[in-house]
Amino acid sequence: MSKKITVTDTVLRDAHQSLLATRMRTEDMLPICDKLDRVGYWSLEVWGGATFDACVRFLKEDPWERLRQLKAALPNTRLQMLLRGQNLLGYRHYSDDVVRAFVAKAAVNGIDVFRIFDAMNDVRNLRVAIEAVKAAGKHAQGTIAYTTSPVHTIDAFVEQAKAMQAMGIDSIAIKDMAGLLTPYATFALVKALKSAIDLPVFIHSHDTAGLGSMCQLKAIEAGADHIDTAISSLAWGTSHPGTESMVAALKGSEYDTGLDLELIQEIGMYFHAVRKKYHQFESEFTGVDTRVQVNQVPGGMISNLANQLKEQGALNRMNEVLEEIPRVRADLGFPPLVTPTSQIVGTQAFFNVLAGERYKTITNEVKLYLQGRYGKAPGKVDEQLRKQAIGSEEVIDVRPADLLKPELARLREEIGSLAKSEEDVLTFAMFPDIGRKFLEERAAGTLKPEALLPMPNGQGKAAPVGGEGVPTEFVVDVHGESYRVDITGVGVKGDGKRHFYLSIDGMPEEVVFEPLNEFVAGSGGKRKQAGAPGDVSTTMPGNIVDVLVKQGDVVKAGQAVLITEAMKMETEVQAPIAGTVKAVHVAKGDRVNPGEVLVEIEG
Ligand code: MN
Repeated sequence: MSKKITVTDTVLRDAHQSLLATRMRTEDMLPICDKLDRVGYWSLEVWGGATFDACVRFLKEDPWERLRQLKAALPNTRLQMLLRGQNLLGYRHYSDDVVRAFVAKAAVNGIDVFRIFDAMNDVRNLRVAIEAVKAAGKHAQGTIAYTTSPVHTIDAFVEQAKAMQAMGIDSIAIKDMAGLLTPYATFALVKALKSAIDLPVFIHSHDTAGLGSMCQLKAIEAGADHIDTAISSLAWGTSHPGTESMVAALKGSEYDTGLDLELIQEIGMYFHAVRKKYHQFESEFTGVDTRVQVNQVPGGMISNLANQLKEQGALNRMNEVLEEIPRVRADLGFPPLVTPTSQIVGTQAFFNVLAGERYKTITNEVKLYLQGRYGKAPGKVDEQLRKQAIGSEEVIDVRPADLLKPELARLREEIGSLAKSEEDVLTFAMFPDIGRKFLEERAAGTLKPEALLPMPNGQGKAAPVGGEGVPTEFVVDVHGESYRVDITGVGVKGDGKRHFYLSIDGMPEEVVFEPLNEFVAGSGGKRKQAGAPGDVSTTMPGNIVDVLVKQGDVVKAGQAVLITEAMKMETEVQAPIAGTVKAVHVAKGDRVNPGEVLVEIEG
């Protein structure tokens, strides 16, 4: 008996999300679509996940336009997206009317297959999205976000699969975002699912720990119907097993995919060249990283964490953060680590390490999580932490979106004439700040994608400082903007500080480096360093989302005075002492650095 295994290639979504921080541009996708369309893939994953955010935030592309262009260029292949259930493509729960509108528009613009997951595996958060996909006449795929913990048993996953089947899904995906599956665990899980439910089973395994292709083979032997792969030039590591390899592995067997290996290899060569263009986004952690079998950190999260750490010169603390992540996860009742819980756990772990004290700062998202506002935690949360985080505030046990009023009309009104279509309103709904900025810049004709750096052996070189008086050039990327930095001199070390004289884009600056990530710039009206007991500062670089106090206000110790955003997470910054606000040095939208005085309070 032969059973053809069907294939989804992830090259246009998850592969570059996992390896290149989601930066592939539409212009590098369209030229190869003709060939991709001829392969005979069951589907191409092209949209959703982090691509929507990356389009609007960094690439300054309209994600809806990308989808329409891909649809036109790929007329014979199903297009697939990854949807975060009630979170859609954002980081919070949306009201049901927004979920229905978003799914309907994604379907109209070209999506045929919706892979729908919830970060908590709380199926209540999938229901409305599944209903909307079925209403649009499209394929609804229910997802198990795979993880391991004392509470994640095969029986629990089978129960979840049955609940999703009852909601009307067309197929089921095992989504192993972190590369945690092992071959025999895969075999057992697929066997159990296939005997309990009568639906095609898809395997989405990341190759982070080098086990992806073995897991896929064991899954196939256990009865799985479908595998997700990535074209070889964007495969393996935190991405997926290589398409060519899996096609070759199954060729001539009872599971032959029937795909044309030569054609796929031509596509592989094309992306081999494309990948070089994005070299600046390659993670420090390329290749196989078996630590994932302990820390459970998914591929996309590792590359984002590495980028964030690199940005503040704290890449040396990566190991500490990776060790703290499982501890935070246990405190929160073992959520799988996938957006948005990966950011919630990752950022809290980050704060716990950088602040030098666990839960000294608790992010707003962790507070909401502990209130039940993302859904039900898989296991028990640490009650002491919950008490510390939310005090006597209410914990909810209903589906979180049940508490949300319809919000589409309000969003439409808020964005007004900047939105030229319902799709624009939905872009704004996903990302109120960067979405609005995108629509404003589009209206003004000033959209400009982040700069791509030349190859390291080109003009931008990163050589060690040669000595005083010898300018040394660097190209530095900060939050998607590139700066040309010339080091013109280095001062002597003193007080544990060191002075560097540089020019940034031609402007002279003096920078004083202090131990571990704290710095003050000597020019440009920068803020002074915190020292007094009433000085309010942050432990992470970020942006000011809101200023809650003004000069003259009387505040209590522990009262929130600012809201900052770092790594897509919002955090309240509290008054260290009771007193009167003497000065406020920041406004909404300001960029701030650790240790700077943002607000001064006089006790
Ligand atoms: Mn994935």
